[in-house]
Amino acid sequence: MINIKDNVQSILNEIKNTALNCGRNPEEIRLIAVTKTHPASQIDEVIKAGVGIFAENKVQEAEIKLPEMKEKADEFHFIGHLQSNKINKLMRLNPDLIHSIDKLSTAQKLDEVCEKMGMTQRILIEINTSGEISKNGMNPDDLLSVIPEFAKLTHIKVEGLMTIGALSEDETTIRKCFQLLRTLAEQVKTLKHENVEMKHLSMGMSHDFQIAIEEGATLIRVGTLLFGERIYFKQ
Ligand SMILES: *Cc1c(COP(=O)(O)O)cnc(C)c1O
Repeated sequence: MINIKDNVQSILNEIKNTALNCGRNPEEIRLIAVTKTHPASQIDEVIKAGVGIFAENKVQEAEIKLPEMKEKADEFHFIGHLQSNKINKLMRLNPDLIHSIDKLSTAQKLDEVCEKMGMTQRILIEINTSGEISKNGMNPDDLLSVIPEFAKLTHIKVEGLMTIGALSEDETTIRKCFQLLRTLAEQVKTLKHENVEMKHLSMGMSHDFQIAIEEGATLIRVGTLLFGERIYFKQ
């Protein structure tokens, strides 16, 4: 039996220990419960266990589950690939932070929608730091040149970068991805664009969040360690 409450406690302990061991303040790091494929009742469970932020990666799935929840989270994050034809639907769900904007064109579309709604959306830019072709994310080499364009979008607030580490058993290979994300954020900061902040590095999942914390993660996204393996049903 999976005990979500115990899992939350042990992950929070691990976050704290890892942070302290590398000289960081554990309070700079937020745990995000990745609830994809798990029912609304489990989202309620994890909120009751003290995790304030949950994240989904599919608009359609979130549309079904969010209205079924009984608990109120502090924040709902979107971490999946965002197709431009799903932007309107996603915005109706009021995401607090979208981690996964990987194209200027998507950001521009989102900015238009937000302007019509009279609101500003917090986003992160997703970077493909591993170079794996299966992964979404902007090419790291393209980031600095598009930042001035993101900065022009007044209904979007860029708050940092997001990545998924390399699919590898080798710690050094994974660590390099996270180091690259941090270096990119430092470079963006030197551009000093108003409206583009680099306060968040969203990196680290169940199998690599300790490495991510050592490399400066502020948001870690954990699914399997909280809820067990995901079961995907064919539709
Ligand atoms: C599924 C997912 C996670 C969580 O992965 P686990 O290995 O289950 O912790 C984190 N980030 C993103 C973008 C995901 O899609």
